[in-house]
Amino acid sequence: MDFPDLEAALKHFFGYDRFRPDQRQIIQESLDDADVLVIMPTGGGKSLCFQLPALLRPGLTIVVSPLIALMQDQVQALQDNGIGATFLNSTVGFVESRNREQAIMAGKIKLLYVAPERLLTERFLELLQEIKSQVGIGSIAIDEAHCVSQWGHDFRPEYRQLSSLRSYHPDIPMIALTATATERVREDIIQQLRLDQPKVHVSGFNRENLYYEVQPKDKSPYNQLLRIVNQQEGSGIIYCLSRKRVDEIAEKLNQDGFEVLPYHAGMSDVDRANNQTRFIRDDVQIIVATVAFGMGINKPDVRFVIHYDLPHSIENYYQESGRAGRDGEPAYCTLLFGTNDIRTVEFLIDQKPDEAEQRIAKQQLRQVINYAEGNECRRIIQLNYFGEKFPGNCGTCDNCCYPKPLEDWTIEAQKFLSCVARCQEKFGAGHIIDILRGSQSDKIKKYGHDRLSTYGIGQDRTTQEWRNLGRSLLHQGLLDITTDGYAILKLNPLSWEVMRKQITVQIAVNPSTVKQKTSSKTNRQAIQEVTNVNSVDAEMLFQKLRKLRKKLADAQAVPPYVIFGDSTLRKIAIEQPRTLEEFGKISGVGEYKLSHYGNQFIEEIKNHRLDNLDN
Ligand code: ADP
Ligand code: ZN
Repeated sequence: MDFPDLEAALKHFFGYDRFRPDQRQIIQESLDDADVLVIMPTGGGKSLCFQLPALLRPGLTIVVSPLIALMQDQVQALQDNGIGATFLNSTVGFVESRNREQAIMAGKIKLLYVAPERLLTERFLELLQEIKSQVGIGSIAIDEAHCVSQWGHDFRPEYRQLSSLRSYHPDIPMIALTATATERVREDIIQQLRLDQPKVHVSGFNRENLYYEVQPKDKSPYNQLLRIVNQQEGSGIIYCLSRKRVDEIAEKLNQDGFEVLPYHAGMSDVDRANNQTRFIRDDVQIIVATVAFGMGINKPDVRFVIHYDLPHSIENYYQESGRAGRDGEPAYCTLLFGTNDIRTVEFLIDQKPDEAEQRIAKQQLRQVINYAEGNECRRIIQLNYFGEKFPGNCGTCDNCCYPKPLEDWTIEAQKFLSCVARCQEKFGAGHIIDILRGSQSDKIKKYGHDRLSTYGIGQDRTTQEWRNLGRSLLHQGLLDITTDGYAILKLNPLSWEVMRKQITVQIAVNPSTVKQKTSSKTNRQAIQEVTNVNSVDAEMLFQKLRKLRKKLADAQAVPPYVIFGDSTLRKIAIEQPRTLEEFGKISGVGEYKLSHYGNQFIEEIKNHRLDNLDN
């Protein structure tokens, strides 16, 4: 098939009108047979980067993917676009494998998904040679490529073997894809896979469609959770720290009338897999889980993620909350922050046998607390963690929507920073604050810090207030901190400018009398203003279309999003097309889906109109 341009091919196969940032260039480079490394956040649209080239170039594209569930999902979604795709893994029996191999040799398959451990078996290497001579291999795509790296959070030994792939097939271009943010892992991927002068694409890590908020846990956290969940629509994940808590919360929510299932490592594999499938297929609305849940689930329409307990690190929080809104539609991420939980986590950390490990875990905990207690735009703190500068004012986090009042704290900042200087930049924030507040602790006496000129000059402020200042100085780049686990405060040139009165310091303060505003309803309004969500009528139709989608999906035993994603469904509800031609113009409706589902959706829209006339 010939297309005038890549956009036309995109519309034909996937129904989308335009490429997301970077996609076009990646696809072009891949078609030019370059090696490519793609680093894009979750939901960025990585799959398309190897799927579209696979359809446009001769031969078969091999896709290496770590998880069977993920493979099945992607293949299903491709097949539902009328695309020749299949997978070979341990779940496929001998006869069926044979059938699939024949389909490949007959040129009916454009994308073949395989597990890494299978790819390098003797049997499979022979098969590849055969494929090569009969239909050709256009490219090899390595999905979740961070699994090759020991430095990543999800190292898989099977992935290591992929390093020999290049020796077997030096001529086949490779594309590796991951959402990993760290530099070290990226370099490791290039080395391990022996990518040849790869074109590297790193997209920003800001997830624009997510609303971030932190709510202080109140006295009855379950009721608080209930209030939040009541304001949400669509699928959601609730993360808890322990299995016991997962079971408890799931049970309670069930009693309160929600469709909920639990997920944790204490359950049997079968139960876990079942619960996951039922969640993905929208049989239940909510899954309550330990962090064991989520890696490798591909559900793009998760509308909210609530952390009932503290995450382990900012990176964990980013990845876990990031399972919301992969489809680019608005989604909500709420962290419930309880000071008692800090002690629980500290206790767990103390159980770790290794001291270095303890130290790192403690520093990570401190960063999470800083995030939770911070008054700046949540995105500044998150993205800063990945080394990305974000200007703030995102408009879709609690601190930006309900900013706390700014106050001039220049004098306090000078006191704080000069105390850091007087301690020779050898201590952390806790000790500095103790000095400022004139504490009589042993540590202070031991170092003779009660004789410093800054000793006791900050008694007019509470420890909390000083902590807030310290955090703010760090976030504003007016002070530095070591990342070796000891969190030692270090001065930088800006710190000296503050001390020399060359710059003033404004910080957001938490007025203790004003209760923090945390109603998610207004949050919802805030994000809806940004994304321009539609009228009551469209919302009603949207719900009807969801039901139709679920019915069609159940009939084929696939997840509803495979039929149409939420964003496409929403566009259909707003535009309410009357003809197949109009229907086909909607973004997300490709040729195949138009012919398969168009009429049924148009019928549903017509009925909706008639219902409205009756009323
Ligand atoms: P990732 O693997 O990077 O997490 P996916 O490849 O699963 O992301 O894509 C996330 C969602 O975005 C999917 O629902 C996909 O269909 C959608 N998507 C990808 N590219 C586009 C595009 N150009 N226009 C609209 N939607 C897109
Ligand atoms: Zn913000």
